[in-house]
Amino acid sequence: MIRSKLPNVGTTIFTTMSQLAVQTGALNLSQGFPDFNGPQALLDAVGRYVAAGHNQYAPMTGLPALRQQVAAKVARLYGVSVDVEQEITITPGATEAIFCAIQAVINPGDEVIVFDPCYDSYEPSVELAGGRCVHVPLSNDDFAIDWQRFSDALTPRTRMVVLNSPHNPSGALISRADLDQLAALIADRDIYLVSDEVYEHLIYDGVAHASVLAHEQLYQRAFVISSFGKTYHVTGWKTGYVIAPPQLSAELRKVHQYVNFCAVTPLQCALADFMAEHPEHIEQLPGFYQAKRDLFCDLLQGSRFSFKPTPGTYFQLVDYSAIRPDLNDVDMALWLTREHGVASIPVSVFYQTPVPQQRLIRLCFAKREETLQQAAEKLCAI
Ligand code: PMP
Ligand code: GLN
Repeated sequence: MIRSKLPNVGTTIFTTMSQLAVQTGALNLSQGFPDFNGPQALLDAVGRYVAAGHNQYAPMTGLPALRQQVAAKVARLYGVSVDVEQEITITPGATEAIFCAIQAVINPGDEVIVFDPCYDSYEPSVELAGGRCVHVPLSNDDFAIDWQRFSDALTPRTRMVVLNSPHNPSGALISRADLDQLAALIADRDIYLVSDEVYEHLIYDGVAHASVLAHEQLYQRAFVISSFGKTYHVTGWKTGYVIAPPQLSAELRKVHQYVNFCAVTPLQCALADFMAEHPEHIEQLPGFYQAKRDLFCDLLQGSRFSFKPTPGTYFQLVDYSAIRPDLNDVDMALWLTREHGVASIPVSVFYQTPVPQQRLIRLCFAKREETLQQAAEKLCAI
């Protein structure tokens, strides 16, 4: 008998729903990925680097040219100066960065505060480090952090807090005032932060991203994580980065060098060139995705789903209470896929204690206009 180290983990909802979409031929608005290609110049650059022989191990910390571009980007966007050698590590995806950050500082018996609904990779990473997640629910209506509940969850064993803004699955944003609250509440405690900012450029309506990088007090204890996959429409490249103060980066690198050692070389070369040559890509990204959000929301006005346009990410939550209040969200997602040809993600799977009577599913709008139109047509016919 295997004594599983993760007895409560099964197949992720993303795999389950994407597989069902393929089996049933449904439009896949479940797992978050674009159905369009990344910028042609970026794709061409990979081909060139592969052909030119850039196919051996990259430096463990990441290609210097790419780390320089990341430093230039965060200086431009958040007005911060980070050390290219000591504070930036390129990783094979944000997922690996999250895993390594948690392994680097969490010891058996430590508690990690996460906010529900919460992304699925945090808790298994904490459990493998011997820690325990303490789940603090976000508010039911707008997915805001209740700082009183957070404060009540702090114990002498609290060693880490995981933030995620823009938030998957709700799209909610953490404000600068939230960060100030957090800083005040943990000021005298030995607590680290993982700030999962993979959707940092997907924020709408002119709102600015409140990055932990720009919060001097919090940054001193933080691992700030992002993903090139989201930013450049190439989720399958699994390339990301983590920015952390030198001592924390050093601990993270001890883990990273044995989990994966380095990220894929030709992808890093291509990303470095593209970032240098096309800084406008990032500037145009909020507008690019806001247009998709607005189109999708306009089309859904004709449906019986109710929703508030998402402030961030490429996910739109919709409430189906007016359609099938009898179904829980997992059954609703299955029914919608099988009977109406649209795959989605139920929100309850991101909770330790699902909210009774919550009737929400998540739809990904990182799709071509015709996909959004086809999906909306199906959703409006229900
Ligand atoms: N965090 C969140 C909130 C995500 O939605 C994702 C997307 N899969 C990740 C981390 C992982 O990113 P990556 O694909 O770069 O590992
Ligand atoms: N982050 C993606 C989502 O939320 C899923 C990535 C995965 O399948 N692990 O849809």
